Amino acid sequence: MNSIIEVKDVTFTYSGAQRHALERVSLAVAEGEFVGVIGPSGAGKSTLSGAVPHHFAGELYGACLVDGKDTCEVTLTDVSRLVGSVLQDIDAQFVASNVRDELLFGLENFGVTHDEIPARMQQALETVGIEDLRDREIATLSGGQKQKVAIAAILALRPRVLVLDEPTAALDPVSSTLVFETLCEVNRLAGITVVVIEQKVALLSEYCSRVVVLDQGKLVFDDTPRKVFSHGERLREIGVDSPR
Ligand code: ADP
Repeated sequence: MNSIIEVKDVTFTYSGAQRHALERVSLAVAEGEFVGVIGPSGAGKSTLSGAVPHHFAGELYGACLVDGKDTCEVTLTDVSRLVGSVLQDIDAQFVASNVRDELLFGLENFGVTHDEIPARMQQALETVGIEDLRDREIATLSGGQKQKVAIAAILALRPRVLVLDEPTAALDPVSSTLVFETLCEVNRLAGITVVVIEQKVALLSEYCSRVVVLDQGKLVFDDTPRKVFSHGERLREIGVDSPR
């Protein structure tokens, strides 16, 4: 299968930082995969998710390819057409006060024609299962509903890859599972590749086809959840739980 994302021997250092945030990380993600990324705080997870679209200022060695194109050689706008990111702080990501306008903003920004917008919106809301929230003020929604709105707003732009940074961090177990159910639908029905940074190991082991473990900027494990979580002792040393 073709790799939709290829990180080749990437070392990344933030401007002015003493040590590398990522050190010689290589990772190829095939189209259609559902990849979970875990590791302790400061391991480099957010840096990895942002290094691909070049969100951060710093020094990057190696290469990040999206759909075969080197992200150093294409514009951030072109990369964001392929890779949609849901940030950890979704409240900071929202630009509108209600759900419909939030989706509309992204679509207009991407230059989607006005006659195409209603269908795109409807499909994104349906895929995530939140048609009933279309006219709601975002400030009145629960944490889980907000995550779904953030996911729908990105999906409306029809990316090939969806990258999420700890979407369940602020959610209770039930809402967390619902977000992963949504990601699973997006992955299965829309064929979108999902890369999710997540600390809840039970969700990773249940939903992901592959789990990547980072520690101190290095890739420690990259395998099926079953195989990765069989290294209980090593994971404990790093500070990562294993599912029961
Ligand atoms: P994680 O997402 O796994 O918690 P990060 O990718 O946020 O880890 O951080 C990896 C390393 O890079 C840490 O040592 C962190 O302190 C450093 N770092 C993260 N963001 C910045 C930044 N904007 N400027 C300088 N250093 C940063």
